[in-house]
Amino acid sequence: MESPDPSSKFDNAPRKIIPIVPVLDGAPADSSEEGAWGELYQAHQKIYPRSVQGIFAKWRWGFVFLTQIIFYCLPWLEWGQRQAVLFDLGARRFYIFGIVLYPQDFIYLTGLLVISAFSLFLFTAIAGRLWCGFACPQTVYSEIFIWIERKIEGDRTARMRLDSQEMSLEKLVKKWYKHLIWIGFSIWTGFTFVGYFTPIRELGMEFFLGNMSSWEVFWVFFYGFATYGNAGFMREQVCKYMCPYARFQSAMFDKDTLIVTYDTERGEPRGSRSKKDNPVALNLGACVDCSLCVQVCPTGIDIRKGLQYECIGCGACADVCDTVMDKVGYARGLVKYSTEHAMQNHWTTAQTLRHVFRPRVLIYTGILLLVVAVLFGSLLNRKSFKVDVVRDRASLARIVSGGHIENVYRLQIMNAVEKRQHFKVTAEGMYDLKVMTDSEDLIVESTQSRWISIRLQVPYDSAMPGSYPVKFFIEATDDDQKVQDKLEEKSVFLIPR
Ligand code: SF4
Ligand code: SF4
Repeated sequence: MESPDPSSKFDNAPRKIIPIVPVLDGAPADSSEEGAWGELYQAHQKIYPRSVQGIFAKWRWGFVFLTQIIFYCLPWLEWGQRQAVLFDLGARRFYIFGIVLYPQDFIYLTGLLVISAFSLFLFTAIAGRLWCGFACPQTVYSEIFIWIERKIEGDRTARMRLDSQEMSLEKLVKKWYKHLIWIGFSIWTGFTFVGYFTPIRELGMEFFLGNMSSWEVFWVFFYGFATYGNAGFMREQVCKYMCPYARFQSAMFDKDTLIVTYDTERGEPRGSRSKKDNPVALNLGACVDCSLCVQVCPTGIDIRKGLQYECIGCGACADVCDTVMDKVGYARGLVKYSTEHAMQNHWTTAQTLRHVFRPRVLIYTGILLLVVAVLFGSLLNRKSFKVDVVRDRASLARIVSGGHIENVYRLQIMNAVEKRQHFKVTAEGMYDLKVMTDSEDLIVESTQSRWISIRLQVPYDSAMPGSYPVKFFIEATDDDQKVQDKLEEKSVFLIPR
């Protein structure tokens, strides 16, 4: 027979959400100055998160696989004769599949940062720290490192027991084995990271032959060391004390933001009981005070104390509490994703979701879609080459044979496609303006850039001394003389006194 669910006695009772306050787990309750300083300098207690299963754990692992498959596989993909994604800093070229970007394309990086920022605002406004709990590298790598630790040392209780034991051969072997795998995984991660900046196949050969450059060695080990330190040792400390996002997240929350919430009205008064006991008769709420929600928490907090800044919204406590509720025969959802308004007003899931998609969320979504459309539109319509015009400062203006005044310019032509292009330069803006180049056929090889010298000439008495705007027209053709693209660039022509 199912145990009576104590939630029924609270169906009509108003629900209360405890406001966001920093609560240090296990800190003394007194608020005196001495107590406060005691909290600040509390010794670090190692957290041994218990393994958990459930819907949020599945999502978290889904993101672990997705992000890591992308990260570790992408540099190995080929595109034509080259690596598909390569940020070649030495050559100042960024290759992303069929796109070749120059440092002058910095605007796309800016667009990407704007998209990332708005995505973060949007997802935080909808469901709090979704990024932290499911996709942040700190969470993802900590999850992988804890999984390795669990495979070698066992789950929470076994790990706690092992750590409290005196050093023994078994403990030494387990610890060395774990660190060996952690270090191997970290170096592989550092190697993959550098593989985004140096062709990874060549890097692999250099790695095994010991021929890597000092910078490559530095970055492989630096990135690897950061992974090892952050995911192996610092873990929740990074989220609690180093990550700035935790500090300003509350500015993006409101009462319609989905957060991991403990239903205080339903759960309290908490207390242990047998499955057969009637909690109403015992005046108990639905919380059986098993403390499993604290044991699974990667940041070691107790969600029953209310939302705290340390909470990364991973949902592990909701998963484990649902398992407990199933075992004792109560309704699920004592700890769940919900909003403050939904809890107060006893909204259904449909009502809650209707309020989650509020004007603020729709505005963020609109801006995000607009920026994405502009960025992709401009990427699709970008020219097959770029040109920078620089006036030759060594010879501003001079009189040359034939009674002409000449200005010299240097044009940097950057071929942004992976085929050879021919360029033709013309100019206009002054009477009888002539363009003089060293060569009729200006060729720039695939993805290369080239500086060329251009001389503009006008008849000596065609204009008064001064500065005149002129325009360069640059036309790109392929080997078959088919026009690929056109550009125009502005400059000035000087006539000296
Ligand atoms: S897991 Fe659920 S039942 Fe157990 S202590 Fe936490 S809130 Fe209470
Ligand atoms: S309180 Fe729950 S949701 Fe928050 S970090 Fe801990 S386990 Fe994750």
